[in-house]
Amino acid sequence: MNGTGTAARRLESYVEGAWRQGHGDGKPVLNAATGDIHALIGTDGLDFRAALEWGREVGGPALRAMTIHERALMLKAVGLKLMDQKEEFYFENFATGATRKDGWIDIEGGIGTLLTFASKARRELPNTKVLTEGPVEPLSRDSSFAAQHILTPLLGVAVHINAFNFPVWGMLEKIAPTLIAGMPCIVKPASQTAYLTEIVVRRILETGILPDGALQIVTGSAGDLLDHVVEQDVVTFTGSASTGQKLKSSPAVLKHSVRFTMEADSLNASILGIDAAPGTEEFDLFVKEVSREMTVKAGQKCTAIRRIIVPNAHEDAVIDALSRRLASTPVGLPDDENARMGALVSLKDREDVKSKVSVLAGEAEIVSGSLNGVDLVSGDAEKGAFMAPMLLRCANPVVANAVHSVEAFGPVATVMAYQDNDEAVALAQKGRGSLVSSLFTNDGRVAHDVVTGLAPFHGRVLIGNRRSAKSSTGHGSPLAPLVHGGPGRAGGGEEMGGMRGVKHFMQRTAVQGTPELLSAVTGQWMEGAPVRADVHPFRKSLAELRIGDQIVTRSREVSLEDVEHFAEFTGDTFYAHMDSEAARANPFFDDRVAHGYLIASFAAGLFVDPEPGPVLANYGVDNLRFLTPVYFGDSLQVRLTCKEINPRENADHGEVRWDCQVTNQKDEIVAQYDVLTMVAKEWPTAAND
Ligand code: NAP
Repeated sequence: MNGTGTAARRLESYVEGAWRQGHGDGKPVLNAATGDIHALIGTDGLDFRAALEWGREVGGPALRAMTIHERALMLKAVGLKLMDQKEEFYFENFATGATRKDGWIDIEGGIGTLLTFASKARRELPNTKVLTEGPVEPLSRDSSFAAQHILTPLLGVAVHINAFNFPVWGMLEKIAPTLIAGMPCIVKPASQTAYLTEIVVRRILETGILPDGALQIVTGSAGDLLDHVVEQDVVTFTGSASTGQKLKSSPAVLKHSVRFTMEADSLNASILGIDAAPGTEEFDLFVKEVSREMTVKAGQKCTAIRRIIVPNAHEDAVIDALSRRLASTPVGLPDDENARMGALVSLKDREDVKSKVSVLAGEAEIVSGSLNGVDLVSGDAEKGAFMAPMLLRCANPVVANAVHSVEAFGPVATVMAYQDNDEAVALAQKGRGSLVSSLFTNDGRVAHDVVTGLAPFHGRVLIGNRRSAKSSTGHGSPLAPLVHGGPGRAGGGEEMGGMRGVKHFMQRTAVQGTPELLSAVTGQWMEGAPVRADVHPFRKSLAELRIGDQIVTRSREVSLEDVEHFAEFTGDTFYAHMDSEAARANPFFDDRVAHGYLIASFAAGLFVDPEPGPVLANYGVDNLRFLTPVYFGDSLQVRLTCKEINPRENADHGEVRWDCQVTNQKDEIVAQYDVLTMVAKEWPTAAND
């Protein structure tokens, strides 16, 4: 029985299109807070080679048949369904020892991450199957040979091995970029909290939204899974540095040069700026943030603050303020509303944390908390993995070793003092690479010196001060648009970071050839590729428009009167347009010149087709450059070419990007930019038919 009066659930793995149990009864997984058996787990006898093949042969082709926007919409639909079922996940979350607030980061933070990826992908990536990266590289003078970097989904399976502490977020932050890239996944949660991940995967699969083979889960030991990975597969690992190193060097990973991303532990530091004396808002914010980071999830966060680096003069004040806060943190059963800190994930983990504190105590004194017990507001400290928050102080951090290298994965951190900014940075660097560091200062010079020192050793640095006190997302929160991961000890991997994360699951290839054939590969028009000039392209709906559709306009002369009229009308009477002598003194001009925005406006006047039609709106320009000055009497001509077509899913229109080139009477390029428009899929539309 599991403490809720129900029999412990035998967990299953979803492999090869079915939920399957391993042989036997499975090993017990205990409720972290009550010690009752919560679930039974085991994968003995499951065929992991076949699971990988199922993903490669069934999931991969189905995902690759979809466009990026179709995959993103699929994830949005999954995320919304999961949000509807979150209470079930919260209930299960208590068994991990986490309070409801802790669970919020994992559950709603995880679903939010999925939804953020789904929306960013539709906003930032084209609705295609092949991505391009960077500009076209012209490789010949006559536009007959060029190159373009492209990204295509890998043809294998992404195996995501996760740590116990974020059973929901840890899975969702990894499968979101993978599925958007078009690659199927096998997730392997840590056994200790796999029951929560398993429920979420059940609910995802029950929606029927994902194609077969897109998502599988291994609940229990990974067995020989990693023996069968090959060159098109990817392995991502989140967990301890020691397990990560072992898996990174497993024979099949090495033999096939399998991409292996490692997010390991780290000794994250938070620094109190030299300016942030007691009594300042930054001092108070720092104390609050450190105590929060030590106690959220009972300190079992990869980003939790382990080292508290403070100015010499304020060390006692920090210890005093922190000790008071930590001692008044109520510890108890995670579902007890009076408890602010729940239990560690298991009694074994508590023992491990305590033994690490003993190692740290060889270099640092314990100044708050005790290894011998904890006052509880509820629960039983014999059965549940409860522990008091522990604060240590290291008197000689410059020569110390353990405080910079031993990760006690619980509510434990060490205070250490510094003399000046350089020493603060040097101490932080002794962690040999961390996921995140934070600095609390209200002084721009301190921010510059410390952050530039920290950056090479960190994946993320947060600056806290009074101005961002309310809006800051905090030291410990990785965010979907930002890089998560750090160098060295932190594993060297890099996750999320917005659409950068999607590219981890794609192959980057430099493709060289004629513009015509490159365009055929990428679906984007480029200089030198064929063009079609029949009817005005603004008269074509998306159903008729093709890349390469082009209009070359008539010419229009720019006169003195035009420039003066534009200047008066807009108020832009900058001297280079108005004063011949002053303009000639300018290093770039021989005389008065036309306004750049006048050129862009005249260009629009030349290329638009004015009658109502399939072009619905102009929503901006990209990469606008004015390249040659336009003098009075010069003639402008525009060449507008359809460059990229992005039909929007679930809408009657799409986005069209046009290459716009404005030239003068000498064929010199005066302005170059992309014009962005919304175009109807059909014209006339049903409404105005
Ligand atoms: P762990 O013991 O290293 O386990 C991590 C994962 O590796 C688990 O899923 C585990 O599965 C699996 N694993 C172990 N041996 C394996 C093998 N031979 N083949 C395949 N998989 C294997 O770490 P943990 O105790 O779960 O997590 C705590 C650690 O993770 C802390 O050190 C923390 O700092 C780190 N962490 C880092 C991040 C980050 O983003 N950098 C995030 C969270 C946590 P089993 O459970 O089934 O053994």
